[in-house]
Amino acid sequence: MNDCIFCKIIQGEIPGRKIYEDDDMLAFHDIGPQAPVHFLLIPKRHITSIMETGDEDALLIGRLLVKAQELAKESGCGEKGARFVINCKEDGGQTVDHLHIHVLGGRPLAWPPG
Ligand code: 5GP
Ligand code: ZN
Repeated sequence: MNDCIFCKIIQGEIPGRKIYEDDDMLAFHDIGPQAPVHFLLIPKRHITSIMETGDEDALLIGRLLVKAQELAKESGCGEKGARFVINCKEDGGQTVDHLHIHVLGGRPLAWPPG
């Protein structure tokens, strides 16, 4: 049994405010937005983190990044930009163990992160 919360959103077992979906990926609004634009883009295949990928995943990861920037533009971030974040494991601040790209925008974002 898969207890992954993002797999459950993919399967429609728990609700998610979807903004894009195809055979391989899903984008949906983050439940706790940290910026006016804050959505997550995930592969439909359960991959635990970016640090559990290899050459066989290169096409999928590339397609995720291309789609992330397309959706950022569609969300109004084309002119001022956005931030694309992949948290990984404990020190990276990953709290959901299903690979996801955060897309944040709509306001200036501080750097470096805390
Ligand atoms: P992480 O900390 O792993 O990089 O990011 C996980 C993100 O998933 C957090 O920003 C959190 O708000 C979001 N999240 C956690 N549970 C849910 C959920 O059930 N629905 C949605 N839409 N987002 C969630
Ligand atoms: Zn999953």
